Amino acid sequence: MKFDYDLFVIGGGSGGVRASRISSSLGAKVAMAEEFRVGGTCVIRGCVPKKLLVYASHFSEDFEDAAAYGWTVPKATHSWKTLIANKDKEIDRLNNIYHSILDNNNVELFRGRATVVDRNTVKVGDKEYTAKYILIATGGTPVMPELPGIEHAISSNEAFHLDEMPKRVIVVGGGYIAVEFAGIFNGLGAEVTQLYRGTQILRGFDSDVQHFLAAEIQKKGIDLHTHANAASIEKTNSCLKVTLDDGDVLETDAILFATGRRPNTKGLGLEAIGVELKENGAVKVTPQSQSTVDNIYAVGDVTDRIALTPVAIHEGMAFAETVFGDRPGAADHENVPSAVFSQPQVGTVGLSEADAREKYGKVDIYKSDFRPMKQTLTGGTERAFVKLIVDAKSDIVVGVHIVGADAAEIIQSVGIALKCKATKAQFDATIGVHPSLAEEIVTLREKFVAA
Ligand code: FAD
Repeated sequence: MKFDYDLFVIGGGSGGVRASRISSSLGAKVAMAEEFRVGGTCVIRGCVPKKLLVYASHFSEDFEDAAAYGWTVPKATHSWKTLIANKDKEIDRLNNIYHSILDNNNVELFRGRATVVDRNTVKVGDKEYTAKYILIATGGTPVMPELPGIEHAISSNEAFHLDEMPKRVIVVGGGYIAVEFAGIFNGLGAEVTQLYRGTQILRGFDSDVQHFLAAEIQKKGIDLHTHANAASIEKTNSCLKVTLDDGDVLETDAILFATGRRPNTKGLGLEAIGVELKENGAVKVTPQSQSTVDNIYAVGDVTDRIALTPVAIHEGMAFAETVFGDRPGAADHENVPSAVFSQPQVGTVGLSEADAREKYGKVDIYKSDFRPMKQTLTGGTERAFVKLIVDAKSDIVVGVHIVGADAAEIIQSVGIALKCKATKAQFDATIGVHPSLAEEIVTLREKFVAA
């Protein structure tokens, strides 16, 4: 049977763009549908604008610290409008680059929402296109809870486009996106309250990291409430009144919910043609990203494996090489390094202590909690934390967790060591870079023994 295309990709985000580019370079005729902006969540309303806002928010602390190093800095003021305009300019530039990537790789782009008609047919607007393979790369969307007044709340999508910088912000949620936005607004001078219904923020992270970061962000001024949630929101002439589930009422100028994301499969037509979904709507896939219909694949956040851009890109590459490159391979989800761009940052790779104990039984723990050198002159109270988790039997390092300045930059290289299954003895044989926070990773010698 002759098809219009070898591959039709639905969704022009991290996974979809990489899969289409590589598939095309391997000789496939490729089309893509994108309903919003090419680049997807990461470029348009995720990693990139978020990191730019994180940079912006860190200056306030830097200005304060500068005095101890001899600088006289006049009282700084901040323009939210300038920040957002400059950020938007950069996002437009990246968006154009993504269009060029598709053009240069002969990927035909259809603007509009796509649905799947049958296992070989995709519909965009009122036109239908056939393809030998279909790739679902539709990402995810923020989930807003159902509660009275929720229409006055925002998600991370809207946070990037607020007309004004709110003076008071409530951030609801305990995941990395909530923590990052709390840090952004706090650094930019807002009064920030963070509500999290669970026991501690950053669920799933190593428990020392959870507690350490919670203490650090509170020292920076974030009013963190665990076991707390918003029950209703009322808009008055001057503010939003948020009633918590224990009856307390807080006044705020903005309330941001970062309480989870759901895979974008609603109304896509997948179930009707036999593509099985998980309970949360994610596409069920094999390690090769193949769905339960054998010519339909899915990569990225829509599969709810590890919802990070480099993972979506990696899955997109593995898909293209498997299907069009004669190099079948599973996407590898082991030892994926990741970061939280909080203040201070978190960098993590491998297992938490709890997961390592469950997997390996006996593990050795090495940890250090210290005052970073920069703070010696400033008198600042920020502390740093490094933790190594080692499988006692093999001596292989199975988890590294860092909280501190530049933790994201540091953890990337540590990820290589974990991929190589480096042992603690090999970490110890590595000479440190002095003076640095990172040298702690290779100088920790004493096993931690619980008191
Ligand atoms: P997406 O990038 O979401 O792309 C999906 C695309 O499909 C979208 O452009 C959407 O418009 C389109 N689409 C959906 N349905 C249809 C349809 N029916 N027809 C046509 N088009 C459709 N990850 C990191 O690694 N580091 C970070 O620092 C980081 N920060 C983040 C911060 C925030 C606030 C958020 C929300 C996410 C962040 N992420 C981060 C996660 C990262 O953005 C995602 O993991 C990544 O974008 C997933 O890529 P994807 O290709 O699966 O989907």
